[in-house]
Amino acid sequence: MEMCHFGLEAIGKTSWTNENPGRQFYTCPLENNVCQYFNWLDPPMCQRSNMIIPGLLRSKNRLEQEINVKLMLANVSRETKCRV
Ligand SMILES: [Zn+2]
Repeated sequence: MEMCHFGLEAIGKTSWTNENPGRQFYTCPLENNVCQYFNWLDPPMCQRSNMIIPGLLRSKNRLEQEINVKLMLANVSRETKCRV
C-alpha cells in the first residue's frame, strides 16, 4: 500500500496527457492533491505508445460522437413514426 506525504492511502489515477497517455500514477487522496504527492505506478511510456495512443483516443472519441448522433437521429425518426 502506497502512502502520501500526509500518511494517507494514496489513490491510483490514470494520466491522459500527450506525454503519458494511459500511464497510471499514485497521488494524494485529498482534493487537489494537497500534499503534492506523486509517484508513477507504471514504468515510463515508450515513445511509440506516446505517438500512437493519443491518435487512437481521438479516433475513438470521434467514432463515439458519430454513434451518438446516429442513435439520436434513429430515436427521433422512431418517435416521429409513432406519432403518425
Ligand atoms: Zn496527501
